[in-house]
Amino acid sequence: RRAPACVLVIFGASGDLTARKLLPALERLTAYGALPPEVALVGVARTAMTDGEFGDLCRRSVTSDGNRRWDELASAARYVAGDYDDPATYQRLSEVLADCDRLHGTAGNRVHYLATPPRLFGPIAVSLGKAGLGTPDGDGFVRVVVEKPFGWDEESARALYADLSTAFVEDQVFRIDHYLAKETVQNLLALRFANSVFEPIWNRTWVDNVQITVAETLGVGERGGFYETTGAMRDIVQNHVLQVLSLFLMEPPTSFHPEAIRDEKVKLLRAIRPLDEEAEIAANAVRGQYTRGGTREDLMPGYRDEAGVDPLSSTETFVGLRLDISNWRWAGVPVYVRTGKRLPARVTEVAMEFRRPPQLPLFPGTDADLEPDALVVRVQPDEGLSLRFGAKVPGHAFRVQKASMDFSYQSFEEQSPDAYERVILDALIGDPTLFIRADEVGRSWRIVDPVLRYWAQDPRPIPLYQAATWGPPEAAELIARDGRRWRHRG
Ligand code: NAP
Repeated sequence: RRAPACVLVIFGASGDLTARKLLPALERLTAYGALPPEVALVGVARTAMTDGEFGDLCRRSVTSDGNRRWDELASAARYVAGDYDDPATYQRLSEVLADCDRLHGTAGNRVHYLATPPRLFGPIAVSLGKAGLGTPDGDGFVRVVVEKPFGWDEESARALYADLSTAFVEDQVFRIDHYLAKETVQNLLALRFANSVFEPIWNRTWVDNVQITVAETLGVGERGGFYETTGAMRDIVQNHVLQVLSLFLMEPPTSFHPEAIRDEKVKLLRAIRPLDEEAEIAANAVRGQYTRGGTREDLMPGYRDEAGVDPLSSTETFVGLRLDISNWRWAGVPVYVRTGKRLPARVTEVAMEFRRPPQLPLFPGTDADLEPDALVVRVQPDEGLSLRFGAKVPGHAFRVQKASMDFSYQSFEEQSPDAYERVILDALIGDPTLFIRADEVGRSWRIVDPVLRYWAQDPRPIPLYQAATWGPPEAAELIARDGRRWRHRG
């Protein structure tokens, strides 16, 4: 796949995301030949830099030796320094873009990538619109790529949508959730719809419950200030978890057309019953915050001791949820969600646990507590899939124990492209499949907003958990109440 002629404009070009993710991804794309000579790069930010200095930043940001095309792209890169709300910035950008069309044949096509702090997304979009930089010329295209978060709640998401809409129509807006670009997340589609063995059991008749775990061992580190205003629900559940969940549980799309897939995702999100009543929220949503913990050799600070964090903070670093889906396929199958920082393992996975066989006592030596059969999609690390089932233990007794069949992505010779390579190339090509549509954003906020509002006014102190444990006791109670257990515990 090759990008068409266009200019990639990065707003926030002096920032962390640009240096750590975007420029290295662009370099790898040049190495594959995915960025032909008709692709040009322009950086925009307030920091004073010349074109040459921005080119040096491009070269410095990659760890490999680079390649001829990358050198060419970096040497020809242009840079516009200016405030994001100053019309003069956009005037200069307009001139630079015209130069690119003349020098590189970029044909009036533009992709504006907003890699700035989120509160600038709206103002930049409005300024692009006012400067006439949101409207394509003739048959060309103009797109805008927006990083998460898409708002802070349903209302601010709507305000951001309104700002974006002053300059762009929905088809031009590419909202990134880099989780969707992970190979295993895309493999959910292959698993479900390129095989016939799984689909017949993918429903309430066979599935007992679904568990989604996004566990990190790290704390907030340097990002305490950011995390204080975000928390686990906004950082992980509103976007990554609900996206993965909708791909995992949606109905088969009628085609692989991007809109057909996004239509099914949003239908699934609509079928998730929002927790509206206070009693419902109290029973089905658990929050937590890590305190000091670990071992004597590896003692980890508590969240409130981290840099940039309020010593009395009630920001959640852990969320446990039970969600219910009101549709024909999933009615009565609970979806348990668990995410947190400073948990004992780094693991992101979606697991489907199947109903128990009706007559386990047929095998008298078998532990009555035997874990149920399960299909587990590991998103990270060690991307792959495993199927857990019961097998007879060798010997005279007829005893059943759990065994598993494993598939690891490492068994493919091909390397998985980095998520940012994938999203940048898709945005340049104009394939919106892995990007989030406005109605998905709105619906996701509709699910998490009532819980966030309830927690914000809940006078009880936030439940605590020691670093390197699986969340507060309330999380275990949430699932134990239904007679089930989390897959990872201890
Ligand atoms: P950043 O480094 O804090 O900001 C990017 C650039 O924006 C800065 O270089 C700065 O450039 C400008 N900027 C910063 N604060 C500003 C302010 N108060 N007013 C005006 N301009 C300001 O941000 P980032 O970490 O690269 O993240 C960019 C976006 O990507 C964010 O939306 C973030 O949520 C998202 N994101 C980041 C990561 C990551 O790994 N960093 C991962 C996922 C998503 P100038 O001062 O030169 O203008």
